[in-house]
Amino acid sequence: MNIILMGLPGAGKGTQAERIVATFDIPHISTGDMFRAAVKEETELGLEAKSYMDKGLLVPDEIVIGIVRDRLSKDDCAKGFLLDGFPRTVPQAEALSATLKELGRELEHVINIDVRREVLVERLTGRWICKTCGASYHTVFNPPKVEGICDKDGSELYQRDDDKAEVVTQRLDVNIAQTQLLVDYYDGQGLLRTINGEQDIEVVFEQIASLLRG
Ligand SMILES: [Zn+2]
Repeated sequence: MNIILMGLPGAGKGTQAERIVATFDIPHISTGDMFRAAVKEETELGLEAKSYMDKGLLVPDEIVIGIVRDRLSKDDCAKGFLLDGFPRTVPQAEALSATLKELGRELEHVINIDVRREVLVERLTGRWICKTCGASYHTVFNPPKVEGICDKDGSELYQRDDDKAEVVTQRLDVNIAQTQLLVDYYDGQGLLRTINGEQDIEVVFEQIASLLRG
């Protein structure tokens, strides 16, 4: 069960990743965790990666893919793995496929949790916070009784800069452009499995699970 999980911010990828690894007993391999582990274990590649990160530079692909290869070679990946956050680009995807070939394995599914841009924007910009008590609300998922006012103490609610529409949409559009290239690439390879992420969390998981049970 060699799987890549894709999904834009707000698509619910984290929630689904947790459920997939719990149900199918495969390791969840996220880029961040993999890098932190390689640096902590002071592997050769981990130290090289660290030297770039310490300078605030992007870690070159050949180091990234080396770290991925080391990780996928570990015993806990024998039954499979769920890759999350890697690859990000088509050259990385090509390098991953070459690496898997060397390891005598191949990708089975690339699951893309698909959510329309306007729905993502709504999810990502809905958070409002109380100025007094810090209580958090969401205009869609957990709205206050009176718009803009805290239920508990009647204080005004505010929005963090990171949750404001212009910041969210700018970041999202960069992501969408990058993701589309990968989606097209994996679609061309016949590996892409698109799941409608606008459905209930349970339904999304059931559809992923039935796909994986094949
Ligand atoms: Zn409050």
